[in-house]
Amino acid sequence: KSIALLKEKDDRNIVALSPANVKALAVNYTVMIESGAGLKAGFTDDEYAHHGGHIIENKEKLLANADILISYAAEIPVNSFTEANMVIGCYHVLDGLDDFSFYKKKLEFYSLDLLPRTTLAQSMDVLSSLASLAGYQAVIEGLNKVKKVAPMIAGAGGTLQPMHVLVLGVGVAGLQAIATAKRMGAVVSAFDVRKQTQLEVESLGAKFIEIEGAKEDQESGGYAIEQGEDFNQMVQDTIAKNCEHIDVIITTARIPGRKAPILINEAALKALKKDSIIIDLAASTGGNVIQQDISKHYALVSNSELFDQLAYSSSLLLGNNICNFLKHWEKQADKDEKDDILKGALVAKGGQIVHPRLIQN
Ligand code: NAD
Repeated sequence: KSIALLKEKDDRNIVALSPANVKALAVNYTVMIESGAGLKAGFTDDEYAHHGGHIIENKEKLLANADILISYAAEIPVNSFTEANMVIGCYHVLDGLDDFSFYKKKLEFYSLDLLPRTTLAQSMDVLSSLASLAGYQAVIEGLNKVKKVAPMIAGAGGTLQPMHVLVLGVGVAGLQAIATAKRMGAVVSAFDVRKQTQLEVESLGAKFIEIEGAKEDQESGGYAIEQGEDFNQMVQDTIAKNCEHIDVIITTARIPGRKAPILINEAALKALKKDSIIIDLAASTGGNVIQQDISKHYALVSNSELFDQLAYSSSLLLGNNICNFLKHWEKQADKDEKDDILKGALVAKGGQIVHPRLIQN
């Protein structure tokens, strides 16, 4: 069988397999690499070739000769002459972010953003790998933009006060953001609708902002659910009151398949200090910040793919996750029929969308 590693869209830096992944896969597969696929992540064609990859210049040729197409979310034109019978990627299909109409080619299409968040699937969990790096990079980006130091520094010229960071949404990205900001010496506070996150926030040495009355659903697979209007208003009001002294706000609150909740309203924007920064990691699903054209004494960075700025590190994790998924797929005799992991990630088969959450939507 043959694998093709595809080049991503022009605005992405990551690549879905590292040279080390290619070396491991080359034991059982012919691995073809679209020329230049890894360049922006720091991997040259020569490195891939050295690790057993075959560099292919012509995309049509690549698509026509591979059984399995691998990428993060590369464009695969529906009219391409692909003979592939499987696509593995991370197309954020519930959010409709990337076009995946190639499923009509009657191939099996697995999108790893749909994987169940179970212990068994942990080694394949692309969302966690990339969210963690995005959370880290959000702090670096914020700290770079604020004209202040993060820790308290006492010196010959006096004492500099520590920076204040607020993290909204304490999933994988939020937790990494808190840990990173704490490591840098900032004073950190955080909020999430899932009550269990309070302990995680406090164990990292940050302050949890308590707001009673959130709805939770044990059946939601660990994810948050949409809240009522009254509760949302209370959250926005409380956050607005807690904004005045904040230098960097990192928002990560998302509800899978839904628009992101607004957490920063107009009052909060007005309350912000001059020169403060908001990094909105929920931007791809609408963002956590109200779209208001008020005079901007703060800066807003809306970017859900900050992990892409760390393309080398992101690609190493992404590649390992994809290889682990492929290994799991190889081991399953019934393929998608009975296995929770394969069934969970299978978007389409035989030209039909089969994933229940996509059919519902
Ligand atoms: P996510 O990206 O879907 O959302 C980020 C955070 O936003 C979540 O913590 C969510 O509770 C929060 N949020 C949603 N609405 C909010 C609101 N109105 N106000 C404040 N916060 C709000 O989440 P994620 O990072 O993908 O993690 C989701 C869950 O999956 C977590 O419980 C995480 O621990 C769990 N998880 C489990 C595994 C595993 O077991 N293998 C792996 C990864 C994540």
